[in-house]
Amino acid sequence: MSTATAETSADGEIGSATAARATGLVKVYGSGETRVTALDAVDVAFDRGRFTAIMGPSGSGKSTLMHCVAGLDTTTAGEVWIGDTEITRLSDKRLTRLRRDKIGFIFQAFNLLPTLTALENITLPMNLAGRTPDKTWLDHVIDTVGLADRLAHRPAELSGGQQQRVACARALAGRPEIIFADEPTGNLDSRAGAQVLEFLRRSVDELGQTIVMVTHDPVAAAHAHRVLFLADGRVVDEISDPTADAVLKRMTRFDTAGRRS
Ligand code: ADP
Repeated sequence: MSTATAETSADGEIGSATAARATGLVKVYGSGETRVTALDAVDVAFDRGRFTAIMGPSGSGKSTLMHCVAGLDTTTAGEVWIGDTEITRLSDKRLTRLRRDKIGFIFQAFNLLPTLTALENITLPMNLAGRTPDKTWLDHVIDTVGLADRLAHRPAELSGGQQQRVACARALAGRPEIIFADEPTGNLDSRAGAQVLEFLRRSVDELGQTIVMVTHDPVAAAHAHRVLFLADGRVVDEISDPTADAVLKRMTRFDTAGRRS
């Protein structure tokens, strides 16, 4: 039933080719008359080293799916796996640790600490976790996001695009299993947004990162390898190697269907 496949690494360990997956994922909010089924038995798998965009009309369950798979919200039924760990039954403490060690987040609001420099913001999660950043990797990430000459600046001294690139570098610094990005270009103008998206794609193609991005923007989704479409809490379609045009056409079908109903 699961779409996950197993692969054997060089040291003989069996590992999953998927960075994250969910089976039969249900999320119900409220009860009685206010009951809303936000996710209706979703089966989904996110392959390692791939960039996946999640699209769908407003209210279709995109944010709920991301929050449940990232362990930020509880589930009503079903299983969620991050790598080889099934997370729905983990204690709060173990889930917090797993999120800290295995998952990177990029939010629409950059969520940088204003009193810290760019470099201090990038290394903060690792410092809090008591991990020493791998200097070679960190330099590589900083080079890739093009921030080498901005590291001593505080967020207020950086443009929105630069701040979001700091947030991207922060997510990448700990080499997480998977990065979840929630409308990462929502607060940026189209040029700064394009730079962030190109960087995210590069971090997948060149650094082997796995990224799942929620967006409502077909141009943003076109930077992904694959676009999943949600409607009424279900995955209803997907496109591989999308163009903005193809994504827009698919989204227009939702609008037309919505007007008919
Ligand atoms: P999207 O991100 O695609 O706009 P959401 O995942 O935010 O959709 O919401 C899916 C459905 O779940 C919507 O009907 C929304 O109103 C409902 N929903 C989301 N969060 C809550 C909540 N905390 N309480 C009650 N209903 C919610």
